[in-house]
Amino acid sequence: MRDLSIYIHIPFCVRKCLYCDFLSYAASAAEMESYVNLLLRQIKTDSVFYRDHRVVSVFLGGGTPSLLPTEEAGRILRAVRENYRMADGAEITIECNPGTATAEKLKNYITYGINRLSIGLQSARNEELVRIGRIHSYEVFLHTYQAAREAGFANINIDLMAALPGQSITSYRESLERVTALLPEHISAYSLILEEGTPLYDRREQYHFPTEEEDREMYQMTKEYLGEKGYRRYEISNYAREGFACRHNQVYWQRGDYVGFGLGAASMVRDVRWSMPESMKEYKDYVTSQEDNLPYRHFPGAHVLTTEEQMEEFMFLGLRMMCGVDGRAFYDKFGQEMEAVYGPVLAKMMSQGLMQEESGRVKLTDRGIDVSNYVMAEFLLG
Ligand code: SF4
Repeated sequence: MRDLSIYIHIPFCVRKCLYCDFLSYAASAAEMESYVNLLLRQIKTDSVFYRDHRVVSVFLGGGTPSLLPTEEAGRILRAVRENYRMADGAEITIECNPGTATAEKLKNYITYGINRLSIGLQSARNEELVRIGRIHSYEVFLHTYQAAREAGFANINIDLMAALPGQSITSYRESLERVTALLPEHISAYSLILEEGTPLYDRREQYHFPTEEEDREMYQMTKEYLGEKGYRRYEISNYAREGFACRHNQVYWQRGDYVGFGLGAASMVRDVRWSMPESMKEYKDYVTSQEDNLPYRHFPGAHVLTTEEQMEEFMFLGLRMMCGVDGRAFYDKFGQEMEAVYGPVLAKMMSQGLMQEESGRVKLTDRGIDVSNYVMAEFLLG
């Protein structure tokens, strides 16, 4: 029996944040309901392909899943439980944006078996939230956080962002201080990437953005400050108290099997990758045609990864994690020693002080993490 993780995409948001290029948009309650109906059909139909899997994690992501009327989230999770074998203690996460989840909604999540909440705070400074077009204030976030604790959530992630327009080292530190004072179990801290085509990109001249050096300083500060507060960095941008690393995300980095349901959702099972269509009409056509085609399977845009591609991914996803990549696991998967494939690259990275070896595992050093894009690119075999 293989482990499976399930990602469910909810593409709805109250309104678009100014930096966002994710697949999300505003929708009416009726549109949400008909989308959930489609999702339920896909969850049920596709389950025939996963009879030999047990589900170790479910992640409702978006978008803003907490924007769904509560009973819609309940219908989705019921469909998963009814159609898939769930592992004991499976991690079930829902992403939540402050202000979209009432105390009652949060209590209902607990009754649906959701045991992890991921809250998109981004910054504890209201003027920074306004500049990036978030719908909430810090006070609204606090209200949601406290309501989540009262509802019984014992595993909460808070998302933070660095390199925001107008952000300073001091204001970023204040966000770190405020967030750690709340004692969440997990903190994700990413730097803003200014994407072309977003309103923030068009307005970029209006703001002072932190320089690359300041961005790097924020990054170092995150690691040191969170380390002092008892958060262990287990991935380049993710920190957790002991025992609270996100199981679902680790499946992506360890290249476990995962299936994505919903608009644009990506899947990878047994080294085959595919993605759901990004247009609602095409997604609906996919769901209907799949129902008609059982027991055969449509893989929209399927790509069977070559051995080289698998090796590359094995390395550059694995190296994102602080525990690094296990040489024995590489051999077990590919029947070749890591040294035989990557010997010269590993030697070069180690001689430059960017990687190190420890008990059969290779990992990035602190300097290597600073220039991780350069290091990862070295592992391409093409
Ligand atoms: S809440 Fe997230 S997905 Fe929605 S618009 Fe903002 S950044 Fe994009």
